[in-house]
Amino acid sequence: MSEKVAVVTGAARGIGAATAAKLAADGFAVAVVDLEESAGKGTVERITGAGGRAVALGADVSDAAAVQAAVDRVATELGPPTVLVNNAGVTRDNLLFKMTEVDWDAVMGVHLRGAFLMSKATQKYMTEQKWGRIVNLSSTSALGNRGQANYATAKAGLQGFTKTLAIELGPFGVTVNAIAPGFIATEMTAATAARLGMDFDTFQQAAAAEIPVRRVGQPEDIANVVSFLVSEGAGFVSGQVIYVAGGPRA
Ligand code: NAP
Repeated sequence: MSEKVAVVTGAARGIGAATAAKLAADGFAVAVVDLEESAGKGTVERITGAGGRAVALGADVSDAAAVQAAVDRVATELGPPTVLVNNAGVTRDNLLFKMTEVDWDAVMGVHLRGAFLMSKATQKYMTEQKWGRIVNLSSTSALGNRGQANYATAKAGLQGFTKTLAIELGPFGVTVNAIAPGFIATEMTAATAARLGMDFDTFQQAAAAEIPVRRVGQPEDIANVVSFLVSEGAGFVSGQVIYVAGGPRA
């Protein structure tokens, strides 16, 4: 099969949608996974409208049965998934003393359990094909961020997960890397601005002033790095965390 198949989670919008579109433009058939199948339709239309191949699938990445069913569907409808981008994410920010167990578990569930389940379900196809690429979305928050004890922990955990999978799957031709974005303009950062009672434009300007390249990131800034990491040419890059933050860190 000449057309490789990529799975992008949380691909209905934001970084995931831009990544799905970029990988489709690179020649991959793309499975657009999000909580609701209907949410991914816009991304699929964007891809098919540009001449690419994509399907939308609904799955909560923290639900083992839903993940297995989605990956089975990908294999049947598109072919063996040998590229996985673990991008689905949520924030439940609060200071430690106000953070609930529900908020802790929700963030761990989507980022850590989700990446674990998706990677476990797809590695079968990658190891069979003796070729694969996994890219995990970490964050500059992994270095510590006030109000994000849950999110920072999950994003740091994904870095350990990345390095371990790189060691385990490398002998099968599978590379595993992480991207740690800084501030990217998406609904996630818009929601943070709203939570802080700030206008999103003002919030972005304030963030840009602190970033060495003096702008905030766009989803395409991340999609371009994913595109490189899943390419043939990146086959000797594995177990790395690439900070894409307009500077050494945001
Ligand atoms: P976003 O705009 O909030 O999009 C996240 C997508 O993930 C949404 O479509 C969401 O669906 C989906 N999702 C949430 N929980 C899910 C689940 N359990 N199963 C399947 N899909 C799920 O976020 P983004 O800003 O593009 O961020 C993408 C990734 O980059 C995340 O992992 C995030 O932590 C990371 N990141 C973002 C930034 C940033 O500045 N934006 C910085 C560093 C890292 P619903 O709409 O239905 O909730």
